Amino acid sequence: MQRIYLDNAATTKVSNEVLTEMLETYSETFGNPNSQHSFGREAGALVDLARDRVANTINAERGEIYFTSGGTESNNWAIIGLALANRAKGNHIITSSIEHHSVLEACKRLEKLGFEITYLPVDKTGLVDIARLLHCINQRTILVSIMAANNEVGTIQNLKAISKIVHEKGVLFHTDAVQAMGNFRIDVKDLEVDALSMSAHKIHGPKGIGALYVKKGVKIDNLIVGGEQERGKRGGTLNVPGIVGFGKACEIMQQNYIVDCKKLKYLRDYFVSQIENEIPHITVQGHAHQRLPGIASVSFNFVDGEALLCLLDMAGIAASKGAACQAGTTEPSHVLLAMNIPIEEVQSTLRFSFGINNTKEEIDIVVKELKKDVEKLRSISPLKPSRKRD
Ligand SMILES: *Cc1c(COP(=O)(O)O)cnc(C)c1O
Repeated sequence: MQRIYLDNAATTKVSNEVLTEMLETYSETFGNPNSQHSFGREAGALVDLARDRVANTINAERGEIYFTSGGTESNNWAIIGLALANRAKGNHIITSSIEHHSVLEACKRLEKLGFEITYLPVDKTGLVDIARLLHCINQRTILVSIMAANNEVGTIQNLKAISKIVHEKGVLFHTDAVQAMGNFRIDVKDLEVDALSMSAHKIHGPKGIGALYVKKGVKIDNLIVGGEQERGKRGGTLNVPGIVGFGKACEIMQQNYIVDCKKLKYLRDYFVSQIENEIPHITVQGHAHQRLPGIASVSFNFVDGEALLCLLDMAGIAASKGAACQAGTTEPSHVLLAMNIPIEEVQSTLRFSFGINNTKEEIDIVVKELKKDVEKLRSISPLKPSRKRD
């Protein structure tokens, strides 16, 4: 059976070029980059090159990039590390209600330590209200963390406007750019962010590796203590093959993102127009144009999303109900709820996230299958108002 992968927001396939560099590293450059001998130096040179490649993609300096185990660790570290390092200045942190769980749970941890967190609401397109943000900043506010683009609905925040307001108030600004990377140019100098989270596996790199950008001069406490790795800020022997793969993925992304994004947008828009033609009673969630090119979050009214996901899976089609880390739970999406989408609509929503390997032919197959499955589920749905009861 042909299988079709439309869950690229959960993870992407490692590209061949990335894999080649990683395999070479595994087999030939196995030294510990912190060792003093030639084996160590060779590995260290690969790490330096990768660090430059990562720094380059966001217009940062090599010394501002710290490798981590991925987006989750970067978010945990940014929130907890910046909060603890700035505790003397205040205990108030502002974030949004649609952040990734790695930000929200880090904030919850801080609440237990005596910090106060404000969770900003969003409008029905998923945009943070900037006037509200301004209103919430007070004397004790030390950090604002707002994601660059949302991983469930794809809404892109007005990051520059947000960072401007935050900095005018003398507050630090962190952004989770894990899902945004590769979708538009992210320039830390232009955006004026103090910290920014990245992850390799969302951009055709390996899983389990990411980075935190920390602007030069910004103080951050360690999250992981141990050796002197990463200039004493993150203990643990470096994952050299992962770092090499991440660097390569960044380099490829930087070269190709404009063409790739055009393709993703073409596929996504084609998909949306096809289902809008073929399937009645659907709603596309998120912002109409301020949205990642590869994401379509679609509510199929009167359909149980879980059941639809199952039927698609049986047909070899992979989509998602929301963030991958929530899949398998029956918890409704906190993102859609924060956007004030009614709960029945939330339960009927699936996320389709397109990748550079997808084709128009695949979309045609998916649309056909969706039409069939949605009709089937609606015909047995007790929710459908038009159904005559006897
Ligand atoms: C995937 C994702 C993360 C988590 O990154 P991992 O590397 O999987 O830990 C964080 N934030 C967003 C927006 C994501 O999409």
